[in-house]
Amino acid sequence: MLDFRLDEEQRLLQDMAREFAAKEVAPQARENDERQHFDADLLPKMADLGLLGVCIPERYGGAGMDYVSLGLVCEALEYADSSARTVVSVHVGLNSLTLLIWGTEEQKERFLVPQAQGRKIGCFGLTEPNAGSDVLGMQATARRVGEYYVLNGEKMWISLAPVADHFLVFAYTDREKRARGLSAFVVEKGAPGLSVAEIHGKMGLRGSCAGSVALSDTPVPVANRLGEEGEGFVIAMSALDNGRFGLAAGATGLIAAAHDASVAYAQSRQAFGAPIGQLQLVKEMLAEQVSLLEAARLLWWRAGWMKNQGQPNTRETSLAKWFATEGAVRAADLAIQVHGGYGYSNEYPVERFYRNARATTLYEGTSQIHKLLQADFALGYRAYKSPRCTLPPYGVEEEE
Ligand SMILES: Cc1cc2nc3c(=O)[nH]c(=O)nc-3n(C[C@H](O)[C@H](O)[C@H](O)COP(=O)(O)OP(=O)(O)OC[C@H]3O[C@@H](n4cnc5c(N)ncnc54)[C@H](O)[C@@H]3O)c2cc1C
Repeated sequence: MLDFRLDEEQRLLQDMAREFAAKEVAPQARENDERQHFDADLLPKMADLGLLGVCIPERYGGAGMDYVSLGLVCEALEYADSSARTVVSVHVGLNSLTLLIWGTEEQKERFLVPQAQGRKIGCFGLTEPNAGSDVLGMQATARRVGEYYVLNGEKMWISLAPVADHFLVFAYTDREKRARGLSAFVVEKGAPGLSVAEIHGKMGLRGSCAGSVALSDTPVPVANRLGEEGEGFVIAMSALDNGRFGLAAGATGLIAAAHDASVAYAQSRQAFGAPIGQLQLVKEMLAEQVSLLEAARLLWWRAGWMKNQGQPNTRETSLAKWFATEGAVRAADLAIQVHGGYGYSNEYPVERFYRNARATTLYEGTSQIHKLLQADFALGYRAYKSPRCTLPPYGVEEEE
């Protein structure tokens, strides 16, 4: 059976997230963008509504909803402001869901529960100044000394780093082993040698915060290592499956926002004695936005459904991310065109949509990386391997 309806719980969550976004997020979006201001006051409000642990099981402090619900929240938030969506797709998607898959019970108690409740904020540190797409080109190292690892290195472009309490970082425990030599660690704020510098001057996502993270002889207890030594690469890839999902849903929200703004403008702007919506070439732009919106939504819904079933979904999530983010850039570009000269001014939100959209085809795998991934699956060079990397199926209790 194929069913495209949201259930009652999902619809209520969607309504609540949309209302929150309209009341608490949208009114500040333009000013935060202008001032490059991250509105940290939103965090406790999101926590109160359960958004910071939306799809984390209740026994780990979350709202216990399914993975589609994570997407619904991301889509609703990004409709109002990409910066607010970033909080959820990074904190929940990249970080908390990784703890859910890979953490020990003790680590879940220590890190996941406070994150799901929104008392602690998590970020994800993979990229370095000289290694982004080329993950294995990273320089960070972790040297075991007794019951600690000593971490050294620098991470770059880390979303939420300036406000984060838990830094999920990746470093080589054995460089010779390449992909099998990376390990994952939770570094806690305040750890000796850990410092964060906020990045300013971004083209978009100016209401979001990102930073570089330096680790200088930072001691990290062995108890903070996620997974086994050498499992860091697969852990990072599984994290990206979930971060990309929130991003795909969020970018869909951005397409919707660009489209709605374009429709409203096309209905009100007069040219040649009639609303510009009556001009066929303007209709063409609106129609293209509709096609992008509907297709992007179907792709992330399918990926969310697969996550709920506990199925591997790297290929489907990647496709959803690639399509929705390129779609967001295109839809925002079209929105500027529909607005004519006014689209070039921050009097209307569409120029901000464009600048925000532009980041989405760069992070969590550039569009080029997603093309390679799709082609490699098609060619049989890549196939699903480890079921350990997937989320626990929704609604199925693990055996105690
Ligand atoms: C706003 C923002 C927030 C971010 N947040 C985070 C975060 O929270 N955590 C984190 O770890 N990182 C984060 N990043 C970093 C982001 O994931 C990287 O920028 C991204 O992976 C690309 O890496 P790079 O910038 O080093 O570019 P490069 O990898 O140097 O790529 C440069 C160009 O070469 C192309 N290219 C590279 N390799 C190939 C290849 N094999 N085949 C074809 N083309 C290729 C790329 O597609 C791109 O066009 C963020 C970035 C931005 C802009």
